[in-house]
Amino acid sequence: MSQAAAKTDLAQSTPEHFDVLIVGAGISGIGGACHLQSQCPEKSFLILENQDQFGGTWRTHTYPGVRSDSDLYTFGYRFKPWTGKPIATADAILEYMEEVIAEHDLDSRIRYGHVVRSASFSSEEALWTVVAEHKGSGETRTFTCSFLWMCQGYYRHAKGYTPEWPGMDRFEGPIVHPQTWPEDLDYKGKRVLVIGSGATAATLIPAMADDCAHITMLQRSPTYFAPGENRNELADMLRELDLPEEWIHEIVRRKILFDMQVVTRRSFEEPEALKAELLTAARAYLGPDFDIDKHFTPSYRPWRQRLAFIPDGDLFKGIASGKASVVTDEIDTFTSRGVRLKSGEVLEADIIVTATGFDLCVLGDIEFAVDGEDLDFARTVTWHGIHYSGVPNMAWVFGYLRTSWTMRADLIADHVCRLLKHMDAKGVQQFVPTLRPDEQDMPLGPFVDKENFNPGYLLRSMHLMPKQGTHAPWTFPQDYYVEKDAIPAADLEDGTLVYGTRQQARRAS
Ligand SMILES: Cc1cc2nc3c(=O)[nH]c(=O)nc-3n(C[C@H](O)[C@H](O)[C@H](O)COP(=O)(O)OP(=O)(O)OC[C@H]3O[C@@H](n4cnc5c(N)ncnc54)[C@H](O)[C@@H]3O)c2cc1C
Repeated sequence: MSQAAAKTDLAQSTPEHFDVLIVGAGISGIGGACHLQSQCPEKSFLILENQDQFGGTWRTHTYPGVRSDSDLYTFGYRFKPWTGKPIATADAILEYMEEVIAEHDLDSRIRYGHVVRSASFSSEEALWTVVAEHKGSGETRTFTCSFLWMCQGYYRHAKGYTPEWPGMDRFEGPIVHPQTWPEDLDYKGKRVLVIGSGATAATLIPAMADDCAHITMLQRSPTYFAPGENRNELADMLRELDLPEEWIHEIVRRKILFDMQVVTRRSFEEPEALKAELLTAARAYLGPDFDIDKHFTPSYRPWRQRLAFIPDGDLFKGIASGKASVVTDEIDTFTSRGVRLKSGEVLEADIIVTATGFDLCVLGDIEFAVDGEDLDFARTVTWHGIHYSGVPNMAWVFGYLRTSWTMRADLIADHVCRLLKHMDAKGVQQFVPTLRPDEQDMPLGPFVDKENFNPGYLLRSMHLMPKQGTHAPWTFPQDYYVEKDAIPAADLEDGTLVYGTRQQARRAS
C-alpha cells in the first residue's frame, strides 16, 4: 500500500464530500472558486488552506516594501476591476482579495489551518480522498471530491532558498531570508548587505535605504530592471472620461497585454535594441559615470528572467543618492563581520539579507497516489501545463512567469469549468490524461524550456517537475499569446483525455 493510501486508511473522521476541492486560498484558489461558482453553480466546493488567512504569497511575505512586480490590471482578476496604482503593495492586493471573497461570499467555503498531507484517487469510486491535518487541533480530517484543483502555488512558503556559503556560521549578526522576515528586525542606522538582485532585492533596498546607515546589493551577475512611473496613463485618461471601472479594467488590460507582446517579440527578434533601451533608461537615473556595463548589463537576453519593473526608478534613485550601492562579485567566505569577496574586497555588515529566491516545490509536498500506487510527477507528461498523464480528475494552476500569473489562472479556470460540464454532458465521472499509442515514445523535455525562461529556482528543481512532449496537447509553451487561443480551443475529444464511468472501472478491476 502506498504512503498516501496508508494515510487515508489512518484518517479517523468521516469524509466530507465536495464535487471540487481547491487546495490553496492564494490568488489562484480564490479566483478558481469565483469562476467555478459563476460557471458551474451546481457544483459543491471547498477550499483547504494551510495558513490562517487567505492571500498566499501576499500574506506570507512581510519584508519591507513587499509589492508586486507586474501590474495589477493583469495580475488582478479579469472579473474584478483594479482601481489602484499598477504596481501594488501586498496590503493593497490583500484588500482587493478580501473584497473578492466578500463579493462572492466565499468565507464559509474556506477551511483555514488545514494542511493537505495526502491525496489518493480510486478509479473504482472515481474519487479523490484528501487527508488534511488541522493545525489547531492536530486532528486528521478527511475529505473526498470528484475533482481536485491544485492552487497551492509553486514554492515552499515556510522557508526560502539560501545557498551554503563557507563560514556562514562565523557571521556575528543576523542572516535573514526575506521569506521569513523577523517582525522585530531593527535595521535603523545599521549596515545591511543584501545578497541577490532579483525583484525582492529591488523592492527591499529602496524600502530600507532611508533607515539604514548604508545598504549594499551584492550580486554575482546583473539583472535587467525596467524603471517607469507607477501610473497608467491610459487608465488615468479613461477615468477623466468617467467611464465605468469595468471598461477601464478591460481596456487597460488589453493595452498592457498588447504592449507586453511587443516587448516579448522584440526580446526574441531584436534583443540588442531592447537591451540598449533598458540600459539607456538605467543610465538616465544613474548618470554618465556609473559603471552600467559591470552592474546592470546581464549576459542573457532580456525576458529570459522576469523583467523587474522598478516603480519611479526607486532602486536606481537610491543608488544615485549614495544611500545604496551595488557590488558585482562572488562571495569567497563569510567572516565574523561581513563577507570577503573573490576579488579580495571585504564588505562589512551588521545584517545580511539573503534575497536568493524560492525553494520550488511540486504540488505542495503532498503525497499523491492513484489506485494505491505512489505518484511521481517527474514521470508524468503535462497536458497543456494543466493536467498530468496518468493523474485523473486533477488540475494544477502553474501561472505565467513572464506575463502575470493570474492570466493563466483565469484561463485554467475556464478550462476546468468547460471540462467539468463536458464530463457531465457525457455522463462520465473521470478522465485520465493518456499518451496515445503513437505518442508513447515521444521525446520528452523539461517542464519549462530553459532557453525560453531560466530563473535559478526553476533550474535548480526542474528534475522534479513533470515533462513536456513535442506537440500539443503535451506541451507547455508558457506563452499567454499562444495559450489564450489554444486552451479554450483544446479538443476534449482528441483521445488524450480517456473518459470513464465508475461502473466501467469496477468491471475492469
Ligand atoms: C514577493 C513576490 C512578488 C511577486 N510578484 C508577482 C507579480 O507581480 N506578478 C506575478 O505574476 N507573480 C508574482 N509573484 C509570483 C506569485 O507567487 C504568483 O504570481 C502568485 O501569487 C501565486 O499565487 P498562487 O495562489 O498560485 O500561489 P500562492 O500565493 O503560493 O498561494 C498558495 C496557497 O496554497 C497554500 N498551500 C500550499 N500547500 C498547501 C497544502 N499542502 N495544504 C493546504 N494549503 C496549501 C499556501 O499556504 C498558500 O496560501 C510574486 C511572488 C512573490 C514571492
